[in-house]
Amino acid sequence: MPSNLNLNCPVGLEWDSQDYSCPYDSLFVILYDIWKENPDKWTNNFANINRNMQALAYGFREVHEENVSLENIRDAIRKDLHNLDSNKFPMGKNSASVADLGFTLLKSTNENAISQVYCTKCDYSGMEYSDQLGYIINIEKSKVSSTQKWLDNLEIPCRQKCDECSNKLTHQIDYKEAPDLLLLEYPHTNIKSSHKIKIKIQNEYKVLSLRGIIYHGNNHFCSRIISPDGTIWYNDGIATGNNSVEDGHLSTISYKELKICNQKTLVLAVYA
Ligand SMILES: [Zn+2]
Repeated sequence: MPSNLNLNCPVGLEWDSQDYSCPYDSLFVILYDIWKENPDKWTNNFANINRNMQALAYGFREVHEENVSLENIRDAIRKDLHNLDSNKFPMGKNSASVADLGFTLLKSTNENAISQVYCTKCDYSGMEYSDQLGYIINIEKSKVSSTQKWLDNLEIPCRQKCDECSNKLTHQIDYKEAPDLLLLEYPHTNIKSSHKIKIKIQNEYKVLSLRGIIYHGNNHFCSRIISPDGTIWYNDGIATGNNSVEDGHLSTISYKELKICNQKTLVLAVYA
């Protein structure tokens, strides 16, 4: 019997004190809460991203059907990642970075984007080409005031110089279709976490809602999970284990309060 009788209460993940697991705990509790809203839609969506996300979705289904615990699935995915890159995803009392975890898990293996390089000084613009763009983006240096404003000018670093005028070229990239899931990384910034972000790709608009925030401090990660109705839940693998604790509502919390959680500061936000 779950000790919390509220059906909307997100499942938590209990921290592994032998093999520190907080980066996985903090991200997976949010992704599981999103997935369980619509298992068929999200299994499909995750499977289209890459094999690790597909494995995660299949694992979530096993958890949902109560065949295994979320901790078992976390450990299985973690083992796969460790085999892939044991430096980024160590075992033992070393924590991985949640950004490394996000960038590896949400890397696209499809040509889901269009890229173009152009010169801001002269008229030169290169040919558009199909490209891959993961579903996690670092917006730390994008000089935007809020997460809503980041997509207007999505650029990635470019070392190429213009053949015509030798000015540094700008590399612009856009998704072909607006994504359903997006992680934005913006630690150490004053960027406000918009409650909703509206993404426009060509003539298609999609609105994604803030569904979770991951915080870091004192070598530990914790998270807030946000239900579709705006209820905020707190999960910390050490303090709350596999329960989540109600922690206010999105309509009454300030942007400043969203930045900080239990003396830890925001690292990334999850929109879906
Ligand atoms: Zn030029």
